[in-house]
Amino acid sequence: MKQKHASIPIFVPHFACPNHCVFCNQKRISGASQPPSDLYGFLKAAAENLSSRFSEVDIAFFGGSFTGIPKPEMIHYLSAAKRIREEFPQITGIRLSTRPDYINEEILHLLLSYGVTAVELGVQSLDDGVLSLSERGHTAADTFRAVECLKSFPFELILQLMPGLPGDTGETIRKTAEQTVLLHPDGVRIYPCVVLRDTPLAKAYLRGDFSPLTVEEAVEISADLCTLFRANRIKILRVGLHSSDLVQNHGVLAGPFHPAFGELTEQVLYFRQICRLLENRLLSGRKQAEILVAPGERSKATGQKRKNLILLQERYGVEFSVRESESVLPGDVILSFLL
Ligand code: SF4
Repeated sequence: MKQKHASIPIFVPHFACPNHCVFCNQKRISGASQPPSDLYGFLKAAAENLSSRFSEVDIAFFGGSFTGIPKPEMIHYLSAAKRIREEFPQITGIRLSTRPDYINEEILHLLLSYGVTAVELGVQSLDDGVLSLSERGHTAADTFRAVECLKSFPFELILQLMPGLPGDTGETIRKTAEQTVLLHPDGVRIYPCVVLRDTPLAKAYLRGDFSPLTVEEAVEISADLCTLFRANRIKILRVGLHSSDLVQNHGVLAGPFHPAFGELTEQVLYFRQICRLLENRLLSGRKQAEILVAPGERSKATGQKRKNLILLQERYGVEFSVRESESVLPGDVILSFLL
């Protein structure tokens, strides 16, 4: 049986980005990779390989602000992607990421004419103070304007958030998340801010002028955001940075990077959900309980090194175990007391 979904990632360098976001290492990004010189040939080989194994494949341009690259180059990339999409029915989408201030109607008409299906917007924060301290070079108003413009086109809209930037507080992060909900995106990606080497943020960190979130803080914040977005039926495409070469190649100086960041967040969500179920339950005399979860969810409910089960036992004095059951939906939990 074919697997459902795969992506063909194309790294688009951003040599001449005029912006100076404090968290970005342009040298590392632009030096990390180049798009293949024969992009059509590369895409064709990838499509032939993947289309026999996956029912849906998308072409994903990432690595910079796609709509900020010179128009002839943009058209060169888009033409190759469009041609492949026409030749392979399994290629169901073309996605790209960009900045809010690089969106206008003319560009969106161009993207649409080449069959782009999803636009990801690097929002990072909706607090002007945080955006200014992060030297993003745009304001929250630019994001609102870009989202309004995007909403009049049939693209899937994904917003990328970066909690933990300079100037961020619990309050600014919460407000950004609440405003994000009001923008009604189709989905979000949550990338807590890490300190990359050779960036202005790294210098600020080494001077003692910037303290990144810890992994634990970032996981708790991400779990709060996931709860809010899921409650509003906004899908979450990713939590935490990819273990890409950029990160593994000693790129991270400090901050909340963990190779299993998304899994840690899911573990916290399970812990909170189980605690909610146990609230107001009469536990006196109970000694053992079983937590039923959907197939494949056992490790998330158990937690790394059984952390969730240990914390639950400390808190409730009951010994918990986890079992997978076909009768439980993904994300749901059923509790049953054994003794
Ligand atoms: S994050 Fe994007 S917009 Fe900001 S400096 Fe880096 S490449 Fe440019």
